[in-house]
Amino acid sequence: REWCVALPKVELHAHLNGSVRNSTLLSVLSTIPHLSPLISVVIVLSGLLVLDFPAELAKQLGDRGVIVFEDVKDVIMKADGRSLPECFKLFDLFHMLTTDHDTVTRIAKEVVEDFAAENVVYLEIRTTPKKNAAKGMTKRSYVDAVIRGLKAVESVDVLFDSNLTTSEPLSCTPMTELDNDTRKKKIYVRLLLSIDRRETTSAALDTVNLAMEMKDQGVIGIDLSGNPVVGEWETYLPALQHAKELGIPITIHCGEVPNRKEIQAVLDFCPQRLGHVCCLNDDEWKQLKSLKIPIEICLTSNVMTGGAPSLELHHFADLYNARHPLSLCTDDSGLFSTSLSNEYYLVAATFGLSKSELFQLAQDAVHFVFADDDVKSSLRRMLKIAEKRLM
Ligand code: 5GP
Repeated sequence: REWCVALPKVELHAHLNGSVRNSTLLSVLSTIPHLSPLISVVIVLSGLLVLDFPAELAKQLGDRGVIVFEDVKDVIMKADGRSLPECFKLFDLFHMLTTDHDTVTRIAKEVVEDFAAENVVYLEIRTTPKKNAAKGMTKRSYVDAVIRGLKAVESVDVLFDSNLTTSEPLSCTPMTELDNDTRKKKIYVRLLLSIDRRETTSAALDTVNLAMEMKDQGVIGIDLSGNPVVGEWETYLPALQHAKELGIPITIHCGEVPNRKEIQAVLDFCPQRLGHVCCLNDDEWKQLKSLKIPIEICLTSNVMTGGAPSLELHHFADLYNARHPLSLCTDDSGLFSTSLSNEYYLVAATFGLSKSELFQLAQDAVHFVFADDDVKSSLRRMLKIAEKRLM
């Protein structure tokens, strides 16, 4: 495990609000008037986040008309694995608690710090820009709040836009070995703006235009995510097409549920990367493999939400053996109580990969980052140095 932490890593699939620290959720909860006595501890039971008393919380929020209590009650009370649609009910609850500018800034800062502590050296965070008139929030001001969070990080130097370059080589020394000299440590951070499957065509187009407007501020791509049983491909297609025409790299959540028509449409669209690909049939696998679209693999997430039957039977093995391009990712490190180091460890423990094979996986991930060639070269140089240290 320690070796997996020390390995410099690239994270390509991390949702901002899925990566929130439990302690932050708790402290946000405790600031809500009249709720403090209800707040108890966050218990992590066999990797599953269980909020103690959140049904009470949901009820209170429900009484105030901000949440449909009956919708989330059963999900919260569940003690074992939650299905994917159930996770989205929890996300709605999280969003109610976290969607104001200051909290978004805090979460962005902490998420970068947490990934840096895991020795992640390049991080693409994805998040859905949210409008909230009651809080004076626009999609633009939401992303500005995220960027303020990146600028506020203290534990590591954050290189978050293409104008912030470094002539010094990136350090591959793990944070834990740097004592108080952590400013030496640098992390590249880039943002992907997510389109939520519940959004209209026009809202999805707004997100793509915002990504274009903010491309000098670290926004480098578009993601399609959100509850896979909601929405129609035709609704987002104009926005995705627009992004393609503008030359913005795209990644799409694909095949989380067996929606044949949509999986085919996504493969035909041929984005730069795909997330998950859990429920493909033989023909779709064939097409995916011939297209060689890199896959963001989220082991823990897929097993917890039922996209894969178990770690042992996860489609990682098939893709890896076929030498298909892939990268290990966390998806929602907070919600699923995992880390990128843990995902590397799980691959070693489950599929018997050696240290040099894990190192190769970390190296390969650099090919698939959406950042420019200078960033890729800098990451490759650093990994070369790390190789001598770790192998
Ligand atoms: P946010 O975009 O608010 O920062 O992060 C949370 C959001 O990311 C969720 O509301 C959902 O739209 C999306 N998301 C997080 N995890 C998953 C996942 O495993 N699958 C899909 N399809 N969407 C996800």
